[in-house]
Amino acid sequence: MTSAPTIPYDVVRAWPKVSLHCHLLGSVHAATVADLARKHGETLPYGRSAADLYEIEAYEDLGAFLATYDVVGSLVRDVEDVHRITYESLTTYGSEHGVLYREIFVSPHPVGVPYAVLLDGMRAAMADARADAGIDSRIVVALHRERSASEAEALVDAVVEHRIDEVVGVGLDYAEVNGPPGLFADAFVHAGRAGLERTAHSESGPPRHIEVILDDLGCSRIDHGYHVVTDPRIVQRCLDEGVTFTCTPVSSDIGRYSGSGDGRHERIAAMHAAGLRITIDSDDPPMFGTDPTRDHAVISTALGLTTTDLARISLDAVAATWLDETDRTTLRGRVTEAIAALDPTVLDPTALDRPPGAPAPLHAATTGRTAP
Ligand SMILES: [Zn+2]
Repeated sequence: MTSAPTIPYDVVRAWPKVSLHCHLLGSVHAATVADLARKHGETLPYGRSAADLYEIEAYEDLGAFLATYDVVGSLVRDVEDVHRITYESLTTYGSEHGVLYREIFVSPHPVGVPYAVLLDGMRAAMADARADAGIDSRIVVALHRERSASEAEALVDAVVEHRIDEVVGVGLDYAEVNGPPGLFADAFVHAGRAGLERTAHSESGPPRHIEVILDDLGCSRIDHGYHVVTDPRIVQRCLDEGVTFTCTPVSSDIGRYSGSGDGRHERIAAMHAAGLRITIDSDDPPMFGTDPTRDHAVISTALGLTTTDLARISLDAVAATWLDETDRTTLRGRVTEAIAALDPTVLDPTALDRPPGAPAPLHAATTGRTAP
């Protein structure tokens, strides 16, 4: 662990980022939540104001966090609300921090509009954000693991019925302890048959859940997944198969998933040292007092990362996107160009590139640095 920043903050802020783990309902600024409450004649719960809406100290308890998350969703009640929160998320917590592309997690269950209206508002906002701020985006619909398997299947049915090009895949979120991944295998198989890509949250384990997510849910990415490092055999498998883990340092430090909650992120450090593909994102930025720059800065400092490491992380994220090959190539070009402009010492960023799903380089798989 190093304590001094290894990369200047302005470089981290401008760094080209690819965002694979940011929730729409988790990226609504508190002032916007207060506006929505006023607009719909509601008061914020527990007599809170915008200033104290997000009580970060309470989020070691995932249930306390999710209750607030649901309140935010319940205040989104028409297509204008959806447009506003999507546009603000993509700009305030996206393009203003160097994010060039985002796959937006959206949880339809708590939102106060039908799924088709949600899509209309998001699609319009995504087009506006692209035109105004140059950020491209797609949608990943998150199934709610604390609800029943049949509700998850019904949501997959809705995704298929209202299929649009912007929706590229499905995810699985809410508390893993209340909804182990195997319960949702049928919904995920259904999504896969419909041509949707798949990922799932696994923040608390056990490591066996990672195998279930890969084998029974057919996922190509895992959100969080830090407990992989407690099982060297599964680490090796993920290296061999080129599995990508979407890490969110600040929120996961608060929840004590990425380590002991002391800012050292031991598990992310072990994943990086093992050569696993990791990406960095900010999960629910205002709710955890963070943003994409801060998450990249925090992990760079904790792990002593160099700009070459950050280039590898950005390019691994490009490879893990669910864009078609043409769009992925375009994004890779934007990322490498921005890296070269920021730090010419990363001489050939393309040399760091790993194609989607390709095995890790031999040196990483044979160093034995797989687990703490
Ligand atoms: Zn998440």
